[in-house]
Amino acid sequence: PASADLAAAFALIREIPDFPEPGVLFRDIGPLLADAAAFRTVVDALAGTVPDRVDLVVALEARGFLLGAAVGYARNLGVVAVRKPGKLPMVAHRVDYALEYGSATFELSDQIVAPGQRVVVVDDVLATGGTVRAACELVEHVGGEVAAVSVVLELAGLGGRDRLADRDVRTLLTV
Ligand code: AMP
Repeated sequence: PASADLAAAFALIREIPDFPEPGVLFRDIGPLLADAAAFRTVVDALAGTVPDRVDLVVALEARGFLLGAAVGYARNLGVVAVRKPGKLPMVAHRVDYALEYGSATFELSDQIVAPGQRVVVVDDVLATGGTVRAACELVEHVGGEVAAVSVVLELAGLGGRDRLADRDVRTLLTV
């Protein structure tokens, strides 16, 4: 996509102070997703960050679902949902992790990611990196390989890239 189109799309990201708790500046990609041109531009750009030899998209609950499914479609790849606890009927593995605000748990379905499969992990925002790291751990626990991590917005200064030092992290915009 043209850089002017990407800039126009990024301009739709809203900044909401003190959400979901005091001190956090929340970046809301909702208006970007709701705009047809911006959504297409960003999905195309994100799809362009996915390495060639990848078998599967792993999308993170919840905003990662919206992007990951579209990226999978664009790249002719299947999609796997990494989910919050209690949603999946057959769980292969679970990981607890720390968030910028609080803590959380992710689960991966049993027998969805096959050993040796190469995946790309997709989410909207990279902050501390704990979320992506938990997803990578789930994939690797079942024998999958994380080929890359593709994220729209990277919040520099929260240490996400450092925490994922051994990963191929690809982001569209760093703020
Ligand atoms: P982290 O694990 O700290 O990298 O946080 C990343 C996850 O939390 C992503 O799924 C984001 O959707 C969400 N998140 C964390 N911080 C923010 C923020 N400041 N604005 C928007 N989303 C955020």
